[in-house]
Amino acid sequence: MYLAVEILLCNPETPTDIAMKKSFFFAFFSIVFVTAAILAESDEFIRDREEMVQRQIAERGIRDERVLRALRKIRRELFVPVNLKNMAYEDSALPIGFGQTISQPYVVAYMTEACDITVSDRVLEIGTGSGYQAAVIAEIASEVYSIELIKPLADSARSRLRSLGYQNVRIKHGDGYKGWKEYAPFDAIIVTAAPAEIPEELIGQLKTGGRMVIPVGSFFQELYRVTKLSEGIKKEALLPVVFVPMRRPK
Ligand code: SAH
Repeated sequence: MYLAVEILLCNPETPTDIAMKKSFFFAFFSIVFVTAAILAESDEFIRDREEMVQRQIAERGIRDERVLRALRKIRRELFVPVNLKNMAYEDSALPIGFGQTISQPYVVAYMTEACDITVSDRVLEIGTGSGYQAAVIAEIASEVYSIELIKPLADSARSRLRSLGYQNVRIKHGDGYKGWKEYAPFDAIIVTAAPAEIPEELIGQLKTGGRMVIPVGSFFQELYRVTKLSEGIKKEALLPVVFVPMRRPK
């Protein structure tokens, strides 16, 4: 702005000077206008997001500050198809292509809270989808590993999370039933597609004391928290839910 005023006050000398100054002003005010337009657009979503966290998340009993902070920060509109941006803060799951969905914000918050993730945790997610749940975990934990069966979804989530600056998320195209042995054991596992039974392989990749939150069932599904004990597991039913099925690769 200071530079713009300087140029405005000095006397034009030649027609070239005047032309240069005109283009300078054109460029300068275009940048100001575009920046203002971008800020105005994201402002609209900031309000929607704040309202979503308040009404759908906090008022329904989610208390974990780490989870609330993550949901306040992450721009969910960047994780849904462009034509659904205006629905990004509604209280629902939304289609993300290939017959899959981004989960309802409340369910994302609930599962993350139930996993009790802390800053030093290494977390595995099964079912990357849009990458939204992975971003929520990445705001809280130190490392996130996420597996997605559908390659184009894995690829687009990877580039989305990279462009948003997440350096602690690694995404693999593969079969979540196998887990990710190279990086096991995990402090927590969040499964966002529903298998008919709890996969033994995933329990095997939990640390002792580790938590897995997982929807289980074919038609009626129940969300479970499975805690790995020094001997055996503790299994708690938390909530009836609806998730897409966890599939076997073809
Ligand atoms: N967590 C996602 C939503 C997931 S929807 C988000 O935040 O957007 C469930 C995802 O699980 C789908 O993308 C589906 O392709 C994937 N999925 C289903 N079966 C799978 C399997 N065996 N291994 C890995 N991913 C699987």
